[in-house]
Amino acid sequence: MALIVQKYGGTSVGSPDRIKNVAARVAKYHAKGDKIVVVVSAMSGVTDNLIKLAKEIMPLPSEREMDVLLATGEQTTIALAAIALHSLGIPAVSMTGAQAGIVTDGVHTKAKIHNITPKKVHDMLNQGKVVIVAGFQGQTPEGQITTLGRGGSDLTAIALAAALKADLCQIYTDVDGVYTTDPRIVPNAKKLAEISYDEMLELASLGAKVMQSRSVEFAKKFGVVFEVRSSLNENPGTIVKEETKSMEGVVVRGVALDKNQAKVTLVAVPDKPGVAARIFKALGDATVNVDMIVQNISHGTGTRATDLSFTVEKADLLKAQKVIEDLKKEIAFGDVITTEKIGKLSIVGVGMKSHTGVAGKMFETLANEGVNIDMISTSEIKISVVIDLAKGEAAMKAVHAAFLGS
Ligand code: ASP
Ligand code: MG
Repeated sequence: MALIVQKYGGTSVGSPDRIKNVAARVAKYHAKGDKIVVVVSAMSGVTDNLIKLAKEIMPLPSEREMDVLLATGEQTTIALAAIALHSLGIPAVSMTGAQAGIVTDGVHTKAKIHNITPKKVHDMLNQGKVVIVAGFQGQTPEGQITTLGRGGSDLTAIALAAALKADLCQIYTDVDGVYTTDPRIVPNAKKLAEISYDEMLELASLGAKVMQSRSVEFAKKFGVVFEVRSSLNENPGTIVKEETKSMEGVVVRGVALDKNQAKVTLVAVPDKPGVAARIFKALGDATVNVDMIVQNISHGTGTRATDLSFTVEKADLLKAQKVIEDLKKEIAFGDVITTEKIGKLSIVGVGMKSHTGVAGKMFETLANEGVNIDMISTSEIKISVVIDLAKGEAAMKAVHAAFLGS
């Protein structure tokens, strides 16, 4: 007999039929004698709609009231899921985050879990009941309702699995698992049998969004092994876990293309201490998130100057340009060139730590495609290049074929 935590996302509970489908799936595990905790999201679209309603009344509503409002989304689903299980003759009970013992800090709309005391959950499981817990919500020690940030039901599931010492944690969604790249762009993308926490985090931050990053970080910290799989079929999904020796045999686990970046270049920046500090301090103060930075001294010219390039999210470009304009009086640099027509192509894999020639192979593949590389950055398990946006998808396909087959 196993204790299993299953999380069903918004699309998996998006209609009464989908909720019945979830109940049928849960019933199968229940028939085997397993203890089951089900964590559910709000039905798809519900959270967005509640936010829209509030903003129609006031552009910046109180965050405390937003939590009271948004928590109703998940509260609807837990009751409907319990009713669906009852209709199959299965004993089930719904619990809000607070009833399940999820205690958070008081930072409304993005609270952090402090601790979980799942005594009531255990009691209900021991009575043979399926326990259905509202995702995304908790309660402060003072009894205020809180929510855990968008996508927070993933975190509820992972944290509950850790607190309950579950044997299995399954994250059910509308895709079959984590893929080597975006299957909508590269038809021969393959579903991964397994992936390490670090690879998953890198791919998520590169725009291959399957799960809330905070919950993957939490799983890594507490060693919660989980499976991402579809609620719409029986296919095995992708296991996410700490990296093993055998994972290093695969050099590249995934390829991702981020089309959401813009590039800023400052030409002829004076080459002296403190200049870069001044520029990036000002950007940071304006809460502009800078990703890649490249700087190199230009030799051969008379005065010592450097060109400085960096990337920011497209949404932050205007803000970044304003900050740079304001600095112009203080730091005498030349032109400022900006472009939104870039893509950031990355390869990710823990195997890079122990293999050589990976960067060379990536760059050669791009050269064969006639793709020019604008910027390069690397970490232990990732190589990213900035290239022309128009060639992004072709480059992605070629790099995927080179490392992961076609
Ligand atoms: N319903 C919340 C949201 O849409 C939490 C979740 O779905 O995980 O962000
Ligand atoms: Mg979700």
